[in-house]
Amino acid sequence: MLSSHMRDLKEKIKNIAIEVGFDLVGVARVQEYPEMAAFLNWVESGYGADMSYLTDKTSPRINPDEVLPGAKSVISCGLLYNTNPDRSIDMNSTNHAWVSRYAWGKDYHYIVGEKLGDLVGRMSIELPQPFSHRCYVDTGPVLERTFAYHAGLGWFGKNSCLINPKHGSYFFIGEILTDLALEPDREIPDFCGSCTRCIDACPTNAIVADGVVDSRKCISYHTIENHGTIPESIRADMGHHIFGCDICQEVCPWNVKSPLSQESEFMPRAYMFHPTFGSLADRIMKHYPDAFPKSPLKRPKQAGLLRNLFIVIGNKGNSDFLPLLDEISVDGDEILRETRDWAIKQIRERA
Ligand code: SF4
Ligand code: SF4
Repeated sequence: MLSSHMRDLKEKIKNIAIEVGFDLVGVARVQEYPEMAAFLNWVESGYGADMSYLTDKTSPRINPDEVLPGAKSVISCGLLYNTNPDRSIDMNSTNHAWVSRYAWGKDYHYIVGEKLGDLVGRMSIELPQPFSHRCYVDTGPVLERTFAYHAGLGWFGKNSCLINPKHGSYFFIGEILTDLALEPDREIPDFCGSCTRCIDACPTNAIVADGVVDSRKCISYHTIENHGTIPESIRADMGHHIFGCDICQEVCPWNVKSPLSQESEFMPRAYMFHPTFGSLADRIMKHYPDAFPKSPLKRPKQAGLLRNLFIVIGNKGNSDFLPLLDEISVDGDEILRETRDWAIKQIRERA
């Protein structure tokens, strides 16, 4: 009787989640999982680099009970974000940069957060009992992907992304921690098999073991989270990536036929989709921060974006951009000065 009530509640919640626009939804029980110890090992091995927002909150990240006493279930929701099948690995241009596809439209924190709010609102009206809850989109102290895995949203690929057999890996996760007792879903088994495409394609060898990414080598980390100097060992491998890196997902066979997102807010803003170096320089220098409203591109801040742009221009070696590099003032910023001089040197050496 109890378990059929738990199942009915879950099915009702899942139906509402799909109605408010999520593509995936599942339920995990709040308990200790082996991945939580693996996360601590990952942090202790230094693979999190200096992402203090991961390490500072380690304790509550693994103890949902500390943030919602009596928490019993996690409702994990997935939202597809890919809106165009173009791939960075197919782009061959000496005057265009690549912005990671998750950042082409509005910042997902807003969109996923709004949908979680809609879901909770409908649950409080339509469920037969009251409940407590906390919603999280990346910002809260919950190990999102561990719960999403145990909620059956996907398996952990060798590239460390969660992969769903029908939807691929281009999806965001948001979750609701609740004191409702809900029937948990089953995990999806690992379908990577003998494939190693992501490991082979990673330009910086950042995938150091199956499912383990060393952030200190990852282009995504350096272009978004690193606020200092990007090591020279990483720069050439950044290629045209000015923000993030999609390579280890683009080569994954599970993304070849994955459906595109139907969420209009993720549609590419014109200036995010294969932007030219000139247009980026203009936006970063003359119109920051208004040039990137509600965009993930605000995270590296103006100096980080400019640093990344210098590296990408240097990598492409197009001497047409030497005047642009000369023109941009880097006075008083040693990191920018050094990176710009490095870019100029790359172009001159190629010429
Ligand atoms: S995001 Fe890019 S750099 Fe990072 S692991 Fe994947 S392919 Fe390698
Ligand atoms: S590319 Fe292959 S090994 Fe890597 S995550 Fe996809 S299926 Fe797994």
